[in-house]
Amino acid sequence: MSTAAPTAARPKKIWMDGQLVDPADAKVSVYDHGLLYGDGCFEGLRGYKGRIFKMDSHLRRLEESAERIRLKIPYSRADLARAMKETMAACGMDDCYIRLVVTRGVGTLGLHPFKCPRPGVIIVVDTIQLYPHELYRAGMKVIVAKRPRIPTECLDPAIKSLNYLNNILAKIEAIDADVLEAIMLNTAGEVSECTGDNIFAIKGGRIHTPPTSAGILHGITRQFVIDDLAPALGIPVEERRMVLDDLYGADEVFLTGTAAEIIGVSAIGDRAIGCGRMGPLTEKLEAEFRRRIMAGAPED
Ligand code: PMP
Repeated sequence: MSTAAPTAARPKKIWMDGQLVDPADAKVSVYDHGLLYGDGCFEGLRGYKGRIFKMDSHLRRLEESAERIRLKIPYSRADLARAMKETMAACGMDDCYIRLVVTRGVGTLGLHPFKCPRPGVIIVVDTIQLYPHELYRAGMKVIVAKRPRIPTECLDPAIKSLNYLNNILAKIEAIDADVLEAIMLNTAGEVSECTGDNIFAIKGGRIHTPPTSAGILHGITRQFVIDDLAPALGIPVEERRMVLDDLYGADEVFLTGTAAEIIGVSAIGDRAIGCGRMGPLTEKLEAEFRRRIMAGAPED
């Protein structure tokens, strides 16, 4: 029997550098390079019935991001796993969205990252509803951003860094067009991903998605579709370079992300995709995703 008090009865707690603090006390210094320069990295995770979906994969990706910006996280994976569970418990939230942030830490007013002696680590447990509920059945309209995804040789999109301005500016293009997501092309004009989601197309019963070499975040939901969901349903998946015509001519297009989960695309700009709503195979993938989560979200 659960002895947990209802969520609303408990004050929310934020985990900061090893301590659980009240939100009012969760403050970041104006000298933190995460704030001054977007110098740091993060993960967005989801708790389902007390289990953290693909927690190990997220912690591995965080470590890889940190290594690539030469940031040493002052906690082990086991420490961070424990801290996330502890924060969920303190917030009384089994179903939640978790933001795990590592900043370069407090330094001087200059770029020099190694003058910041200790990285800051923050865990926020909250809820998220990225897109309105009804769009999950109806399908979501998206646009193609004019702005390309930042080239890998400038800042590899595989690094989940605190600098999201490339994505935010594309998101503003979407908002200006009255939609909530934008497809981003790489500088070679190929499809890469969306501002906060990976992208897939289905044609003739086969799933296609851009390879990581197209310059994308190596999405954990994307990998779950490729390794688990599609094989379980007997749907072949191919990672291959894609252009916009591959999306326009697809039977179905869908997006994946921790916050978005799996959502169908009904139109790209003024071009309807497939049947103009969430397609049948996307629906099957979504149902399989839900079934796996409800059976006990895998944490590995
Ligand atoms: N691409 C970008 C740019 C993202 O920020 C995200 C996460 N919101 C994704 C893809 C999806 O990745 P994941 O499935 O790991 O959440």
